[in-house]
Amino acid sequence: MKSILLHICCAPDGSIPIPDLQAEGWNVTGFFYGSNIHPQEEYVRRLEALNILASHCGISCVVGNYEPEEWLDGVRGLEAEPEGGKRCERCFTLQLEASAREAVRLGCEWLCTTLTISPHKNAALINAIGQDIAQRFGLQWENRIWRKKDGFLRSVKASRELGLYRQNYCGCIFSA
Ligand code: SF4
Repeated sequence: MKSILLHICCAPDGSIPIPDLQAEGWNVTGFFYGSNIHPQEEYVRRLEALNILASHCGISCVVGNYEPEEWLDGVRGLEAEPEGGKRCERCFTLQLEASAREAVRLGCEWLCTTLTISPHKNAALINAIGQDIAQRFGLQWENRIWRKKDGFLRSVKASRELGLYRQNYCGCIFSA
């Protein structure tokens, strides 16, 4: 069974990738970065939803340290960028680098992200960033566009069935 570290940006977005990967035979471990999320109450709310999902799917999920100041340092100079612009590109990189570090630490050979389930995000860019990071960390990138085949609609339905909290903004202080 191949082991994959799945970067999970939030519970609703993980509600389809986790069971789909499990159905394909992957051994899935989740990783929640979270330092991009503002304010802390929102971070806690999303983390609680993720714990419900992880328990439902029977996976372990590693939670990164909540370090919003470090995230802000990472996107400094890009604060005024529109959503979908350079700040988001940098944010994807920060999230996926942290995920790759965790994959190496846990001995997972493969890396993937739930980010591509969102109809608002540039899936080709996310996969290109993930591919580059995986290569740098000696990992294999699992190239997926989860929103294909009604992935997003399925995630809305699954989240509703599980009673998962679904946020109405991407996460950072600039998108809030
Ligand atoms: S809008 Fe979302 S992807 Fe873009 S910087 Fe903020 S949290 Fe990151």
